[in-house]
Amino acid sequence: YQLSDENITVMRKLGEGSVGTVHKVEYRPKRKIMARKLMAVYPDETNHRQIMRELKLLKQCQSPYIVKYYGAYFSEDDDGQSIAICMEYCEGGSLESVYKRVAKLGVQIGEGVLGKVALAVLNGLVHLHSYRVIHRDVKPSNILVTGRGEIKLCDFGVSGELVDSIAQTFVGTSYYMAPERIQGDRYAVQSDIWSLGLTLIEVSQNQFPFPPPGHPQLSVIELLEYIIHMPVPHMDPAKFSADCCDFVSRCLIKEPSQRPTPTTLLTTHPFISTAASKNLNLKSWIERVWGVPKSSSSSSNSNSNSRPA
Ligand code: ADP
Ligand code: MG
Repeated sequence: YQLSDENITVMRKLGEGSVGTVHKVEYRPKRKIMARKLMAVYPDETNHRQIMRELKLLKQCQSPYIVKYYGAYFSEDDDGQSIAICMEYCEGGSLESVYKRVAKLGVQIGEGVLGKVALAVLNGLVHLHSYRVIHRDVKPSNILVTGRGEIKLCDFGVSGELVDSIAQTFVGTSYYMAPERIQGDRYAVQSDIWSLGLTLIEVSQNQFPFPPPGHPQLSVIELLEYIIHMPVPHMDPAKFSADCCDFVSRCLIKEPSQRPTPTTLLTTHPFISTAASKNLNLKSWIERVWGVPKSSSSSSNSNSNSRPA
């Protein structure tokens, strides 16, 4: 791809995060639909060359569990310079948008889908770790669903140089950070597992689990302190299987050396082997979540009353 502002038509805004804005765009030379993330960066030619070098790793990191990377370019307008990262457009949206949608329908995401999410995230993390990449930002908005119902990771920390040049304060502060990261300790592959545990609880109960419901509001610092010192949340054993609850409580072991790695969970945990053996039609699930017109739905048994799995 010869990516540049001249070759790209912006279609609509998909969302905005703390460091960027994401649009659905068309790359006109190939009539290819993409998602483009724009992030304001400090103007520094040397840094920009280094960022491009580091982003090359994204091209190699391809996997069915990672959002496809098409390329990046620098763009300049009156507000300054930005880096544009072009990736696969995932029309099922993020798990954050999915669970908010599901909440509006008055239902919750069930254990079958949660298992497939855990399976996909673990596979994605194992793949990244084979390139010595720690994701660093696992959370519902960075887990995307394609139109075919595939679940994929995006926005991982492949470029330290990019993080350093993003023209925003509070880059990298997140409520999904493992206790060892909040405390500024060394962190490793297990830190992503903590974030996966929190993500699964949030997606299953349609809200972030810290502080627990009913607890008074906390400031940013208080909330991070709370996460370090107070008991960890857990899955509701009345609604989820013992395997599912055990999986999440292992993810949320505070001591990082005791917390399992992605490979251990992927190869030994019964919640994951059950999820892997289940035949779930996630394509028709995501279509029901967003409510496609009947004519364009490929699933025969979907009706307007069916509840998301
Ligand atoms: P955050 O992940 O913190 O929400 P981002 O800037 O990374 O912030 O993304 C903003 C929103 O754009 C996401 O929440 C998601 O809904 C949407 N989005 C990001 N990437 C894609 C993509 N590749 N396909 C579809 N939607 C996307
Ligand atoms: Mg994101």
